[in-house]
Amino acid sequence: MKIAIPKEIREGETRVAVVPGMINLLKQNDHEILLEQGAGEAATFQDEAYRNAGATIITDPVELLGAAEVVLKVQPPQINPELNKHEIDLIPEGTTLISFLAPLDNRALLLKLAERRITSFALEFIPRITRAQSMDALSSMATIAGYKAVLIAADHLKKIFPLLMTAAGTIPPANVFVLGAGVAGLQAIATAKRLGARVEAFDPRPAVKEQVESLGAQFVEMELPEDAETASGYAKLLPEEFIKKEQAAIANCLPRIDVAITTAQVFGQRAPLLITEEMVALMRPGSVIIDLAAEQGGNCALTQANQIVEKNGVQVFGMVNLPAALPTHASQMYSKNITNLFRHLFPTAERQFDFNDEITKSACLTHQGEIVNQIVKEAFARGDKSNE
Ligand code: NAD
Repeated sequence: MKIAIPKEIREGETRVAVVPGMINLLKQNDHEILLEQGAGEAATFQDEAYRNAGATIITDPVELLGAAEVVLKVQPPQINPELNKHEIDLIPEGTTLISFLAPLDNRALLLKLAERRITSFALEFIPRITRAQSMDALSSMATIAGYKAVLIAADHLKKIFPLLMTAAGTIPPANVFVLGAGVAGLQAIATAKRLGARVEAFDPRPAVKEQVESLGAQFVEMELPEDAETASGYAKLLPEEFIKKEQAAIANCLPRIDVAITTAQVFGQRAPLLITEEMVALMRPGSVIIDLAAEQGGNCALTQANQIVEKNGVQVFGMVNLPAALPTHASQMYSKNITNLFRHLFPTAERQFDFNDEITKSACLTHQGEIVNQIVKEAFARGDKSNE
């Protein structure tokens, strides 16, 4: 099969779906790898390295996508502003697309994929089972985001992070508060600890307390709701009454906090509102909030996606696509995940999907002209978020 890797065209996207080190694995079973010229450049991977690994470089994206039998991407396909054509319209019918597809926000895209009879697999829908961990691109990207969030906070805080005992006096460590201690939150805790901060954290999933403490951070005790976690390891949407109690507990902490890193998300829902505007006013001037849930509506009421909002001297960063700020390692991790998924979907040279397999079934969105994914079908039937 011809596997095409286009250059990402989403504004600000610097990652590439496949790095040169993965070409050899993808080529197995006599597949041919076609790469758009310069696709890896922003992530520091040059065409020469891909060529040396056995890929063919193609200059024209129309020619590249027109030849594809499988397309590997990072961002959901969109209109190419230079060509004034949708990427989907450049891909032949029957092609397989593997990418992040933000399925619940992209109804129009999914209908288009179905109409073009493209078989699509979304990396967001890889099930959270042990066997699929090597394909879990959401966790890979969350790791990068959690790390970078702390560096941005450290860069903008008007204080230093570690305890310093100097001849000019003792400087106490910065106080960092991490809200939501999943993959991104735990990485943020570990990074802030490495920089010498005093770290506190909270997450409503019961297993998290031990993980937070094992990183040397303090778990902020609250009365946890029963049954806060789904069978697949995600937090459930918590009742408004609990969120109010949580806000009150967070408000108690905020006056001593220098940096709040918020990562709280609930699968398929708006991010919970954990820091209201009044609560921001409790923080000292010069403090920083890094909101990693900005794209899902934000954990802080002041968050604006892709912007820095300042109120009473507190800066609120609405972070969007942080992995693109570290494209070399983000691409390396993503590339490993997408290559593992490709090899799982196509274990031999045969082009036959095994829809009895949980990973294949869960990740597949469209096939043979239909939206086939149950979660997506139910969300669309309920009229949940869509861009129509
Ligand atoms: P996520 O990005 O969907 O959410 C981030 C965090 O926000 C979660 O820890 C969640 O509990 C938390 N959150 C939700 N509501 C909150 C609230 N009101 N207040 C504070 N925090 C709130 O989740 P994620 O980081 O991608 O994954 C969560 C967990 O899933 C991981 O920590 C891990 O235990 C599990 N997981 C399992 C696998 C696997 O088994 N293959 C893979 C990845 C993750």
